[in-house]
Amino acid sequence: MLGHLRKWLSIRPDRAVETDPAAAGQARGSGPSTLDSPLAQAKLELGMLLRLQGITNSAVLRAMLDLVPREDFVAPSMLDRAYENITLPIGRGQTISQPYVVALMTQLLEPRGDKRILEIGTGCGYQAAILGHLFGQVYSIERHKDLAEAAIRRLGRLGVDNVSVQQGDGFLGLSAAAPFDGIILSAAPREVPVSLVNQLAEGGRLVMPLELENGDQYLMRFTSSKAGLFEERFTEVRFVPMLQGIPDKNTVQATVIDDDSLKMDSPKVDSSL
Ligand code: SAH
Repeated sequence: MLGHLRKWLSIRPDRAVETDPAAAGQARGSGPSTLDSPLAQAKLELGMLLRLQGITNSAVLRAMLDLVPREDFVAPSMLDRAYENITLPIGRGQTISQPYVVALMTQLLEPRGDKRILEIGTGCGYQAAILGHLFGQVYSIERHKDLAEAAIRRLGRLGVDNVSVQQGDGFLGLSAAAPFDGIILSAAPREVPVSLVNQLAEGGRLVMPLELENGDQYLMRFTSSKAGLFEERFTEVRFVPMLQGIPDKNTVQATVIDDDSLKMDSPKVDSSL
């Protein structure tokens, strides 16, 4: 049905016009921070918090604290809050997830360098960049074209070359590249999408927020096996809704995330921990 609407984006990172926060981040010198800088201090505190909350996978901690600069994914005005354990607005009414939730979901996928992962909801590309450092190949689908394009540019600039981003409806998954060892949803559906379950390899894991009838959301992990789906329920979370289809072409403006577009957003809380 909507399959024909799906469209691979052909923007080459090296040709991108640098108009988004990551570019601004480079211009303002967001490279290695000195030990006594506020960002380095915030990173240290975040590291302690993640460990205390049960993030034990050292590769996940390294990706979150050393390899992927979260400050390059947030608007310049939010720079000093980049390593707080909070959600931040990324434009189009969407949010970059709280670091703890990103770390927990990544850990639940059980990182390994030969695994292939599908992410639904690229957003600013932060989670995708973390996945890129920990898995062999990552495919990421985003319904907003401008968010997808900005994420492609940002990932290109950061040298993350094993993540491919495309605009599309994540409910359809990506049958051309299935089966996947892991699928991760960064937006909450009200039911487990069967089409995505069908794109899991045997032993593959689907990590996702699931919204219940009363509006509560829980982080879930479903593991595919010959006997069926094995279900595990984790912490309560708060994600933006997973929406059907891609936005009408006419309503999509050619803007990327910047301070002005962020002013119109109301930040959403990503986890009620
Ligand atoms: N992982 C992201 C979080 C983005 S917020 C990050 O690190 O920034 C969730 C994203 O899911 C939003 O960008 C939203 O547009 C997208 N989304 C919601 N429903 C979708 C769908 N059906 N298909 C693809 N993307 C979807």
